[in-house]
Amino acid sequence: MDIRIGQGYDVHSLAEGLPMWLCGVRIESPTGFVAHSDGDVAIHALCDALLGAAALGDIGKHFPDNSDEWKGIDSKILLARVCEMLEDLGWSVGNADITIALQSPKLSPYIQTMRETLAEVMRTAVDRISVKATTTEHLGFVGRREGCEVWAVVTICK
Ligand code: MG
Repeated sequence: MDIRIGQGYDVHSLAEGLPMWLCGVRIESPTGFVAHSDGDVAIHALCDALLGAAALGDIGKHFPDNSDEWKGIDSKILLARVCEMLEDLGWSVGNADITIALQSPKLSPYIQTMRETLAEVMRTAVDRISVKATTTEHLGFVGRREGCEVWAVVTICK
């Protein structure tokens, strides 16, 4: 069996009055992500991990943020497209592990829905998808509530 590992990283800044989407789930929050798409920084990191595992470049290569085609787009559509690209090459997802660093709000009430949402879009089992959240103890730009940082690691196999 051919097994590959990919990792992805993304950051988006926060601003008042914008929607906050993480892992395809709308989060109740007074601030949201500044972005060309819906700003789902977790899905963007996950897409980069999947693309990286298959050595297919990065999300900016496939969905350029200067193109009107992707303006305001639901990032779940991007994730579904990335999964299709991998499937076309014979890859299937082994597992994904995502770490979200956000000072507030608390994400624990959303974690299970996030896992289920991602698993559905990726057409895989929920027990292959892990989502974890942490604060940065008020340190750095995350701690100052200026932005959100996400790391994703995936394995794919064929
Ligand atoms: Mg992004």
